[in-house]
Formats: sequence, C-alpha cells, structure tokens
Amino acid sequence: MVQRVPNYCPQCGTAVEPRTFEGRERRYCPSCERFVFRNAAPCGGVAVVDGDAEALLLVERAVPPGDGEWAFPGGHLEADEPPSVGAARELEEETGVTVDPDDLLLADVRQLDPFDGKYVVSIRYAVARSTTSGVPEVGSDAETAEFVPVEEIRRGSRPLRPHVRPQLDAILDALRDS
Ligand SMILES: [Zn+2]
Repeated sequence: MVQRVPNYCPQCGTAVEPRTFEGRERRYCPSCERFVFRNAAPCGGVAVVDGDAEALLLVERAVPPGDGEWAFPGGHLEADEPPSVGAARELEEETGVTVDPDDLLLADVRQLDPFDGKYVVSIRYAVARSTTSGVPEVGSDAETAEFVPVEEIRRGSRPLRPHVRPQLDAILDALRDS
C-alpha cells in the first residue's frame, strides 16, 4: 500500500505494471502476483480553543506542504495508533501542550488538496484549552506555536493552510455542542 503511484513493488522491488481492477487502473506486481494499492494517508490533529471561542492554537509550518503557512497541529497516524491518540501525540510534539485522547471531540473529517500526488484525509479533533495542560512552545515541524484570535483567522491576515478556515466552524460547533 502506497500513497503515490508507484514504479516498483514496495515488497520486492520488481517494476510494477498497470492493470485495471474494479474499474480503476492500478499497479500490479507480477512477481508477488499482487496489486500495489494506492490509498489516502490519514492524519490526526487537534484544534485547541481558548476562552469562549476566542483563539485557536496554530503552528507556523516549517516543512512542506505549506512551509510558512499556519495550520492546526497534526500529522500522520502511526500504523497501530488510534486517531485520537495520534492527534494528541502530534499536538504534544508540535506545541508541548498535552491532552487526554479521551477528552477530544471529533469535529471534522475531510480530504485535503493533494500534495505532490499524495492525498491526505484530515481527522480534526477539538478541545477547550482548559481541558489541556501546558503552555505552547514550539516543537518539531513548526517555527512557531501560538494562540491566534478567531477574528484574525476569519480575516486571513496571516497565511493559512487552505483547510483551516473551512474547518473553523466545525471546530467551534463541536465545542459548543459538547
Ligand atoms: Zn512484488
């Protein structure tokens, strides 16, 4: 299973060949006699909301995609990691803020714009800052981590990843309904 169209089998290294299966052109390894399926990558992340929907914890990304843009903390789930556990881990890695995965509210699931042929499914959780511990400090994959006023996010007065504003209302709704 891969995320970009492969040229070689990830198991044995044999050149794969196009073959149609279930109505899609896929890649097939003649040596393993198996398809090499291409799938989206699930990513988990947390939007920490401060006050009465006043500000959200964002990070300024230091790595592509979106180097220099602001986004919610998040990243790829490990293979054996439940989404909420991975989301909490990414939050801590990128901002130092900790949260019990059981306290996370599922706010939004969506496909993000593909980057370099790779598709990501974003699993976004929301939590009130009062439910978390720690003060934001910058960690891996980020330049800066800070609470950004919701008004500033809506105005787009700093460069944002494209999914931040579309996810904003779902995040605030999840907290309001909790
Ligand atoms: Zn193979």
